[in-house]
Amino acid sequence: MLLEEVQKNYGKLKLYIDGQRVESKTEIWGNVYNPAKDEIIAQVPFSTKDETKEAIQSAQEAFEKWRELPITDRLQYLFRIKFKLEEYYETLSRIITQNHGKTIQEARGELRRTIESVESAISVAYTLAKGEHMDQVSQDIDEVSIREPLGVFGIITPFNFPAMVPFWFIPYAIVLGNTVVVKPSEITPVTMDYVIKIFEEVKLPKGVINIVHGAKDVVDEFLENKFIKGVTFVGSTKVGRYVYEKAGLNGKRAIVQAGAKNFIVVMPDADLNKVIPSILSAFFGNAGQRCLAAANLVIVGDVYDEVKRKFVEAARGLKLGYGLDESVDMGPVVTRDAKKRILGYIEKGVEEGAKLILDGRNFRVEDYPNGYFVGPTIFDEVTPEMVIAKEEIFGPVASIIRAKSLDEAIDMINKSNYGNAASIFTTSGYYARKFRREVSAGNIGINVGVAQPMAFFPFGGKKDSFFGVLHGQIDSIDFFTDRKVVIERW
Ligand code: NAD
Repeated sequence: MLLEEVQKNYGKLKLYIDGQRVESKTEIWGNVYNPAKDEIIAQVPFSTKDETKEAIQSAQEAFEKWRELPITDRLQYLFRIKFKLEEYYETLSRIITQNHGKTIQEARGELRRTIESVESAISVAYTLAKGEHMDQVSQDIDEVSIREPLGVFGIITPFNFPAMVPFWFIPYAIVLGNTVVVKPSEITPVTMDYVIKIFEEVKLPKGVINIVHGAKDVVDEFLENKFIKGVTFVGSTKVGRYVYEKAGLNGKRAIVQAGAKNFIVVMPDADLNKVIPSILSAFFGNAGQRCLAAANLVIVGDVYDEVKRKFVEAARGLKLGYGLDESVDMGPVVTRDAKKRILGYIEKGVEEGAKLILDGRNFRVEDYPNGYFVGPTIFDEVTPEMVIAKEEIFGPVASIIRAKSLDEAIDMINKSNYGNAASIFTTSGYYARKFRREVSAGNIGINVGVAQPMAFFPFGGKKDSFFGVLHGQIDSIDFFTDRKVVIERW
């Protein structure tokens, strides 16, 4: 069944500053596309420096009042936001699909995780926001540690989870008494534009959450503005490294979650009936555009041919199309440029001598001939030194690598520059434990293809996949609060 689009066109997106929707005065506007149809669905402004400053100023002014509001009252806004997200669940899911291209099921899944973050912030706020107290640390002296909000935070988000990633941070930041300026991806800005409606309907005090659109210029203002106490960044390693360095130079806190090249290892004792559906979704879910997407499939021992054959067979059966069609398994990639980049990597793999056993390059979806579709693509006989095994492709391209032993597989993973996620499929507790202990990645899957931590666990990678100390999600309780110690004698 093909679901209806929420709107054909969202027009010129507005900024959301100081509780008002304002039209940007910028002269620079970008087109926002529906990638399944290659159709323009909105125009996004690249906010001027003054507009970004105004949003930060508004957040700073709001902070003074917002921090004074008791946490019990701040929490009520999160409850209301959660129920509004539930109310607009289907609408928001369709917008995500329309602007991003992922299937409606994937969009619904994203929104569920979005709501979980709000629930998680609600459930931990009272306990984790508390400080500590100790009586009589010295003669007649007591000591107290207090958690305080810091002020304004900049939230910089990637294209691939336009609802979930902003909500990894917004609920924790605001429930703890901070205020935020959010900059959605300029490629998928429509979802957060719709979410403004929710902030209005719950009557969030003006300035607590502001939204500005754009790219580098907005990010640079975040990194330079004296009112910004910290930034959260989720996106590519190249930009993430720049954000982390500049935040450090300017004395700002930063959580930077960056790029990935994730491995899945299949051991000879794995239960293949369970492996194939899991790895299919890990490699081709979201058309491979997940920071936790699998990219390299390392098969150990004599199951190599069987796993390969079944994987290719299953991938060949995936139905591509417009994600609003409920029967579709995989949507397009996000932009024409992304498609070009992915096709470039496939060419590179062929040049490097990898064997292309499933070629998604000339994939056509009859009803959507202009969509940015790339079919599931699988390379065999890949070696860890090849570019396609090392660099992040961020598309539906799988590289199969042979390993003689688990030690060899672990060594490959640990030599990768990235360390976001790694999974093993096995029925052996010994292999699983060894993998968990020896692999250098932030998220480990054991018989799970996409090792995504729930909202109430920390989330972050290692090596070039992460810069900072505190991870996202639950760790942001520490990120969004400062500690003060009081030593008292009466
Ligand atoms: P991107 O780095 O291109 O963009 C991320 C954000 O940075 C966007 O808001 C963008 O406007 C801004 N930006 C772009 N260029 C900039 C510049 N030169 N200076 C300052 N800001 C700039 O990433 P993307 O393509 O939107 O997202 C895909 C990437 O995000 C992949 O590498 C993926 O692995 C990563 N990602 C990581 C995680 C994680 O948790 N580790 C989660 C999701 C996505």
